[in-house]
Amino acid sequence: MVTAIWIGLDDTDSTTGGCTTYVARTILQTITHDYEIIGYPRLVRLNPNIPWKTRGNGALCLHIGQPGGKIKRTIGMIDGVEVHCSLTFTEELTAPQQQHLETVVKTIIETQARVDDENTNPGYVLLQEKPEPGIYTKAVTQLVSLEEIYPILTTHHARYQGYKNCRGLIGATAAVAWEPLDKTFELIAYRSENRWGTKRQVSAASVQQMDTELQSTFDNYDSTNHHNRIVPNSPCPILYGIRGDDDLDLIAASDRIDTEPVDSWLLFETNQGTDDHLQQHCIADVHPFESVIIRGSVDNTPYTITGGHVLFTLKDHTGTIPCAAYEPTKEFRTVVRQLHPGDLVEVYGGVREQPLTVNLEKLNVLDLALVMLKTENPVCPVCGKHMKSKGTNQGYKCITCGVRSDTPTLRESQRLLNPGFYEVPVCARRHLSKPLRRMAAAQPSLLVTST
Ligand code: ATP
Repeated sequence: MVTAIWIGLDDTDSTTGGCTTYVARTILQTITHDYEIIGYPRLVRLNPNIPWKTRGNGALCLHIGQPGGKIKRTIGMIDGVEVHCSLTFTEELTAPQQQHLETVVKTIIETQARVDDENTNPGYVLLQEKPEPGIYTKAVTQLVSLEEIYPILTTHHARYQGYKNCRGLIGATAAVAWEPLDKTFELIAYRSENRWGTKRQVSAASVQQMDTELQSTFDNYDSTNHHNRIVPNSPCPILYGIRGDDDLDLIAASDRIDTEPVDSWLLFETNQGTDDHLQQHCIADVHPFESVIIRGSVDNTPYTITGGHVLFTLKDHTGTIPCAAYEPTKEFRTVVRQLHPGDLVEVYGGVREQPLTVNLEKLNVLDLALVMLKTENPVCPVCGKHMKSKGTNQGYKCITCGVRSDTPTLRESQRLLNPGFYEVPVCARRHLSKPLRRMAAAQPSLLVTST
């Protein structure tokens, strides 16, 4: 019995326009009277390090069934009419309905996808059952090949189509396979078509105020760097996207934003802000294009290179790896500069291929090394006078008594860094990175430190 259909979509946009969430919105706009939307539409971010992503490597999933579900939730507004989803479903979809759904999806993708862009390779899948979640886990953490996807689609008797190199089928299948262990929401507001490509009118002050007042939302505004994060800078149909843990708070948050008229909006369930992309590894097991958590000790004094990027080497029992806080991570670099050889840390970040480097997203300072500073030359134990230095690395000697010493008088240096978690600022935050605001809300005993 087929009760409902899972629809997965990916890779329809390009840097010059389009948006896969808008494709999903148009599908919902088209089918909302004839079908039931089951649960929230899903915006599923996949491996943030793959070289061929356009922007945020987002894929979409919709669960569609027969009308008649009982418990309803408001999930958006399209054409001035509220859109609802149902949290229950009963009736089975007929074969003609499945065929109809595929025709709708296919027509909308073929109308909206930016296939003229060489990097846009759309794909859609319609599945009666979710694939095993393992394919989602792999797609969010590693590289997946199409050869891994086709057998899943065949086993599940999927209706599907890939365009051009068909890569979009990877994200489309993985998005359906997502089984949330942790999840957040994003309310996406869209612009009317006549405004696409023009400057967005969204009051930064209203976003900043909303960010302060609604603590279940996150990554809205970077007060230090004056960056209004909810507004994209591409010419896509999105006006803004507000992220948070509470769907109702997001609707309240959206009401507080002063903007140009909102054409339509939708609430998506997402894996954003969950750290799903990260895997705990030792250094020898780190591969390019993955995202890792590595525990180790700082091996050298951090240094700054041209462009303002700050680097240090991390060491564990299996090897060493460079870690970088790039210039866009702004004040986070000040934290990294305060590290000292011997500090015990956990680094969180994506792995760049050439050279193999961890691009830092978060840092957990676990234990600070004792740092000793020379205060004066050693004192002669015989005459009580200060000894004289014999030159670099040659120790000290008392010119009166001839007594020698290798060590000057030392005192413990006051460290400027405290143990705890540090994160890159909102302006540099990756979609999947779990903000400390969320981590602290879930675990109040967590040591969270602001940069
Ligand atoms: P968006 O702009 O919607 O946030 P994006 O445009 O950056 O996302 P896509 O255009 O969807 O990214 O391009 C990513 C492509 O990579 C898609 O074709 C997707 O199927 C594919 N893909 C996603 N994850 C993986 C993975 N782990 N391994 C291989 N291919 C992947």
